This record gives sequence, C-alpha cells and structure tokens, in this order.
Amino acid sequence: MTDFAATRAQFHLPDGVIYLDGNSLGPLPIAAERRVAKMLREEWGEQLIRGWNTAGWMVQPRRIGDRIGRLIGAEQGAVTMGDTLSIKVYQALASALELNPSRKVVLSDSGNFPSDLYIAQGLLASLGRGLTLKVVEPEEVEAAIDGSVAVLMLTEVDYRTGRLHDMRALTGRAHAAGALTVWDLAHSAGALPVDVAGAGADFAVGCTYKYLNGGPGAPAFIYVAPRHHETARPALSGWLGHEAPFAFDLDYRAGRGIERMRVGTPPVMALTALDAALDVWDIASIEDVRAKSIALCDLFIREVEERCPDLALASPRDGQQRGSQVSFRHGQGYAIMQALIARGVIGDFRAPDAIRFGFTPLYIGEEEVLGAARILAEIVGGRLWDRPEYHRKALVT
Ligand SMILES: *Cc1c(COP(=O)(O)O)cnc(C)c1O
Repeated sequence: MTDFAATRAQFHLPDGVIYLDGNSLGPLPIAAERRVAKMLREEWGEQLIRGWNTAGWMVQPRRIGDRIGRLIGAEQGAVTMGDTLSIKVYQALASALELNPSRKVVLSDSGNFPSDLYIAQGLLASLGRGLTLKVVEPEEVEAAIDGSVAVLMLTEVDYRTGRLHDMRALTGRAHAAGALTVWDLAHSAGALPVDVAGAGADFAVGCTYKYLNGGPGAPAFIYVAPRHHETARPALSGWLGHEAPFAFDLDYRAGRGIERMRVGTPPVMALTALDAALDVWDIASIEDVRAKSIALCDLFIREVEERCPDLALASPRDGQQRGSQVSFRHGQGYAIMQALIARGVIGDFRAPDAIRFGFTPLYIGEEEVLGAARILAEIVGGRLWDRPEYHRKALVT
C-alpha cells in the first residue's frame, strides 16, 4: 500500500492553501528544485556542450519517455518526450491519417479540449483532399464510428466534467470499423491506470504539467504502438527525428522506432525537472492513487451536495466513470471560484459555468476535502462571492 504521507512529503505546498488544481498545474516536487539547480551548475555550467554526451541530455527524451510509458501501460521504447501537447496532437493525427489514406473523416467529441480540435481543424485545412472533422456529443461517439472514419481522436477524461471514455471498448470499435485511434491522456497520465498497449491504442499523447507535476510548460509525451514504428511517417520531420542527425544529410530519413517522433533540440532543463517529479512514482502505485482519488472525490460530492443545494454536480456520480476531478455548475461559478481562491482553496473555473476541483492523493487527503467543502458552503450559503473584485475576469481562469 502506498504511504501517502511519504508522497506528500515530496511536494512543496504553500501554507494556508488547499490545492485542488493539480489537474491543471501540479505543485513543485521538492526534489525538482535541487535537481535543476544541480543540473545548471554541474552539467550546463561545468560540462558545457559536452553535456549532450556526458550528462545524457541527448537520450533524455527516450529515458524519461520510458518512465512515463510504465505509467500508461506502454511497451519499452514506445514513448518519447518534447514540444507541447498541442504539437504532439498534430504529429499523432497527421501520422494516423496517412496510415489510413482512403478515409476522409476525423471523429472527435464536444468534450475534447479545444486545442485538440483546433489542431485538427488546422491540419485538415492544410491537407485539403476533402478531409473533415466530425464532432459529436460524448455519448454519441460509439454510434458514430463507421466505415467513413479514418481516425478516432478522443481525450480519455473530459477536462470540464471529468467524464471517462472507455478506451479499450472504443479502440476495439474503431479497429473493427477500420479506423485508427489517437488518445489524449492529458487528464489520465498520473491520475488513473492506463493501458495503451492492452487497449490496442495506435497513438497516444499527453502533457506532464498536470498530474505528472513537471512544472509550467513541461514537455509533452507521444506514444506510437510498436506495430506502426516503421510505417508512421513523421509530419514534423526535424533533424532529431532523422535516422542519423549528425550525418547532416540533405535528405530526411525517418529515425528508428519512436525516435522519429522527436523534432528538435530537447528542453533539457524542463526534462530534468520532470525527471525529478517522476521519482514519486517509485514509491506510489497508480492503483492506490486511483482508489484513494475515487474515495476523495466521493467524499467531496457528498459533503458539497449536503451543504450546497444551489450547486449542480456536472461530473459522473459513479467514480468508475470519472477521472480524478469533480465539477459543479453554478451561474456565478467564476465569482465563487475567485472567492474560494481568496480563502486559500485553489480550484479553477471552466466556461461557461463549471467550478472544477482536482483531487490528487499524492498530496491531498480527507482533511483538505472537508476543509474545501466547508469553505465552499460558507461562500455559497452566505453569497460571499457577490463582491465586485470576484467578478473581474483574469487572463487565466
Ligand atoms: C491541457 C490540455 C492541452 C494543452 O495543450 P498544450 O499544448 O500543453 O498547451 C491539450 N489537450 C488537452 C486534452 C488538455 O487537457
């Protein structure tokens, strides 16, 4: 059984804060601060350009990719790191489309994160040839998988409501219909057990600054199923995805396996912080994290529904159908969240009306859940949100 007091001790959490937004930006792992400082001084400072070889910078994307691969059920050597998630979505979708050239439709759902849909729209506009993006309601995805679909592109956990898609079942349906799959694991990796290999996923992508605590702007990951390693053509054919980057050939030849999904120079400082952040998984099991996350979310729902009849649950009630977050709807959701943050309870707001709370057992326990529910009830019951400063919209909500 995971010792959650020990995992919690690995994070810096500011005094007076109940942090329920690790689903958007995980907190600072104490080891990351030390590790990055050491890397700057001893590697960049002393080794200079030699660090690419002597400090292992060049193989970092694959080494760290394998660490994440173990959390998402990937085969060894099937995950690499770099760029942002939006770019990894582009790469995965472009390769998947090329592997299924006779079909014209990318199928996604209205619960997908807008950036994924925007990236698809941009890519399809560049490709032309009659390709279209079809967006259906999450409940209608299964029925919409037919012989026209080239690629099923979904985010497993809905960022707004936390609704969880059945990755294995939908991947099976897609394959039966002759479609490939691209799964976005932004709200899954580090939040719940994922089995990309077992589910038969073709491509998967995700970010590392949410439940993996890699820090703001931490690099993304991409998984390509080994059966596609030698046939998936990289659309972003940068030099570090080349078979021999230091041959400096004028013509591109895709690298071996997952290496071809690399693009340019890896973000070494950011990967070093992420590497340290992943150490917590040496003492935490994702199954234990999942079990406790469901219990914490259930407790929060119970407490809030008992005290705040004005809030409507926006997340699935059944923990098995939900990611690691709980959302409630209220017409004044934005102001309520600002009032909460002023009282030290940090969640976030997602337009048009959802207040969202992430529960991450690595550093959140029952005490925080009960404290947050009590403060939320005071704010909603006493209309404490109704002050001009809580209505002013900030750049990031
Ligand atoms: C957080 C998130 C993103 C953000 O993409 P970036 O390129 O890292 O800004 C994209 N897609 C999903 C599903 C997300 O949850």
